[in-house]
Amino acid sequence: MLIDVHAHLDMVSKKDLESVINEATKNKIGKVISCATSFVSNKKNIELAKTYDSVDAGIGLYPLDAQELSENELEHAFEFFETKVKTAIAIGEVGLDYKYAKSEAEKEKQQDVFRQFILFAKRFDKPLIVHSRYAQRDVLRLLEEEKANKVLLHSFVDSQKLMNRAFDNDFFVSVGLNVLENELVQERVKNFPLNSLLLETDSPIRFSGERAMPKDILRVANKVAELKGITLEQVEEQLEKNFKTLFG
Ligand SMILES: [Zn+2]
Repeated sequence: MLIDVHAHLDMVSKKDLESVINEATKNKIGKVISCATSFVSNKKNIELAKTYDSVDAGIGLYPLDAQELSENELEHAFEFFETKVKTAIAIGEVGLDYKYAKSEAEKEKQQDVFRQFILFAKRFDKPLIVHSRYAQRDVLRLLEEEKANKVLLHSFVDSQKLMNRAFDNDFFVSVGLNVLENELVQERVKNFPLNSLLLETDSPIRFSGERAMPKDILRVANKVAELKGITLEQVEEQLEKNFKTLFG
């Protein structure tokens, strides 16, 4: 079985959802983790996980969404997460995104919330699914400072040095459709140990003009097999082990 460890099925229209999930199953994808972004998307993903056996939910707040919430709203959000944490497979997607943070204060707020999510995940023994954009060093620093132990760094394939540091921490890294075309990413994946790697689509976000979908994991897995010089079955077997190690 192949697994898509990072998607946003709550963003797929209701009329398409059934076929998106069926297509995934037909292409060997037995599990999809649908990650939350906004507060509302948490509720949708929890519903999807209830409805579909092959879907699990991540709960959390995307850093740019979290940044917009008042202290009071954040407190309510965490109270809500506490009531739902048992139904979730992971805390995500959470993290840091400095691309649209306009000031130091906004960056600090993101860091505060991320720290809260790290502690929350540890308290309930859940893995974190972490987003980082223009903030990879700070993301690693906070995870290290708070001694996070179950971590998936989503699309963390830019810097070999930071990938090595992630590996030294026993963190997992997921790679998506950019491995199909981007030579730098291909080089990174070639050099990164297969036993710390997972696959993702970030669907339905567009890739090369088309909406990525969980079924595309098969193409990503085939590419990884080619880069590593092993069979698709070997990739599948190792990544399923990785999934179990991290998500239980
Ligand atoms: Zn995402």
